[in-house]
Amino acid sequence: MDISSLRHSLGTVVIHQLRLNRLSSTASYQALIGQIPSKTCPHSGNGDEMAEHLQLHRPKWAAERQRYFGDSIDITDHVPGL
Ligand SMILES: [Zn+2]
Repeated sequence: MDISSLRHSLGTVVIHQLRLNRLSSTASYQALIGQIPSKTCPHSGNGDEMAEHLQLHRPKWAAERQRYFGDSIDITDHVPGL
């Protein structure tokens, strides 16, 4: 397997883990399997570190959200089904 195929495969795995809310690097998943005691986001301390938090609420990614969604007050306005 070449490096491009490997990157694509890893990206696909991450997307599936996010969709299932089981991204192995998140506190929510690590707490689920008993590796750590709390699913609270260790970076912001502001809520559980789950897929929604990563994509919609993590302060670290505010600039990226601003770039893609503009000045929307409620980012969920742009996410179908929320
Ligand atoms: Zn956070």
